[in-house]
Amino acid sequence: MCQDHGYFTKKLMSSLYLHIPFCRSKCRYCAFNSYSGQGHLFVRYIAALKRELSFLFSEYGGRPLDTVFFGGGTPTVLGAAGLVEILDHCQQLWGWSKQAEISTEANPETVSAADLILLRRGGFNRISFGVQSLSDHDLLSLGRAHSAARAIQALEDARQAGFDNINLDLMSGLHGQSLQDWRRVLTEALTLKPDHLSVYQLTPEEGTPYYDDVMAGRALVPEDDLSLAMDALTWEMCRQAGLAQYEVSNYAQSGKKCRHNVNYWLNSDSLAAGAGAVSFNGGQRARRLEDPAEYCQCVEAGHSPIVESEELDREASFRETVIVGLRMIEGIEIQSLQDRYGIDLPAYYGVVLTGLLAAGLVELAGGFLRITDQGRPLSNQILEKLV
Ligand code: SF4
Repeated sequence: MCQDHGYFTKKLMSSLYLHIPFCRSKCRYCAFNSYSGQGHLFVRYIAALKRELSFLFSEYGGRPLDTVFFGGGTPTVLGAAGLVEILDHCQQLWGWSKQAEISTEANPETVSAADLILLRRGGFNRISFGVQSLSDHDLLSLGRAHSAARAIQALEDARQAGFDNINLDLMSGLHGQSLQDWRRVLTEALTLKPDHLSVYQLTPEEGTPYYDDVMAGRALVPEDDLSLAMDALTWEMCRQAGLAQYEVSNYAQSGKKCRHNVNYWLNSDSLAAGAGAVSFNGGQRARRLEDPAEYCQCVEAGHSPIVESEELDREASFRETVIVGLRMIEGIEIQSLQDRYGIDLPAYYGVVLTGLLAAGLVELAGGFLRITDQGRPLSNQILEKLV
């Protein structure tokens, strides 16, 4: 149930995440907070989201937003006009900084050429397509609601609409996928010349049909060797295509890193609104009601939809910033950690860090701590030592 325990410290933030928890259908592997068959809630949800945004603004005020990110779910199931209506509301409240990055996630089956024109004219300047594969066989087995041809068309329509910052999400490590299969998908994706590419290995999340398939032996997860070979192939092919890896799973053309996500990996403050959205402010993390109908009801009643909040003390927040930041290829800047937390990283980790350095798994260079190429396949073990 929602509680009226309100928002926290009034600190200025310039990053905003909006969660749209609806999808046209549910993919077999999906554990995100998303629901299909909820079209009857769309108008109500838009109104509730706008109301929460007004509430956030009245609590925090704040400077113009640097990044706005509509994620889901599939934001574009609300319709382009609905998204622009929400975005207009944000602009009236906060306005944008110069060069603000305004992104939405989209699934190919939910946007027509006309929708994409409306989104672009309505102020969105970055779009992230959930494509996952360009093999119809894979898409069918993942339970995706679009074909490869539809995905390609959506990307071409987005370019025509004037988007010059387009991300494609892809998944590797699908059941039965060989290195050659992955090479084919990646080759085709790179032929489309995306500005940004996110590549995640498919992982079985408990509670999903895909997880049940894996548990029952109907689907296989790739062996470690194959996963590593896929990662290495991704890195090399992206490099050749001019997409530099800047985070474990993300590659970008020059100047096209996702600034909203970089803010997240820096563990910086971010406003958030919408069902299930998580905000982070001054060491305090707050999560909202996940169920969209309950979320609407709560906001309509004038209550805060926050159901859970966690306060990290200075050291816990420091360690979390280190862990999240090491996902970035350039690593974390020691001085900025010192300035932010008053903690000297080498002294704090002491012999643990010395051991990792001696093993060549991490390095200190140019004022940054980063995981080395040698250490990258062992990232999880490294992070466990630092957490
Ligand atoms: S489109 Fe994305 S959020 Fe929606 S069900 Fe599929 S994976 Fe989940």
